[in-house]
Amino acid sequence: VKIRVNGEMCQGHAACHAHGGDLYPLDEFGYSSLDVAEVPAGMEELARRGAAACPEMAISIEE
Ligand code: SF4
Repeated sequence: VKIRVNGEMCQGHAACHAHGGDLYPLDEFGYSSLDVAEVPAGMEELARRGAAACPEMAISIEE
């Protein structure tokens, strides 16, 4: 499972980090600093929660 963040859609709400924790690192302005990342085994549910929390629908989960 992978997380992919569309940086052009990200508006810096930081909701991904609030709901998905360290799977969703932020830059110093509160925007996602993620492009693509492999989700560690067992953390898929957290990854999905973080993605679902994004109000800009900027995050996709690739199975
Ligand atoms: S929740 Fe969405 S808009 Fe907000 S920082 Fe994360 S990716 Fe960007």
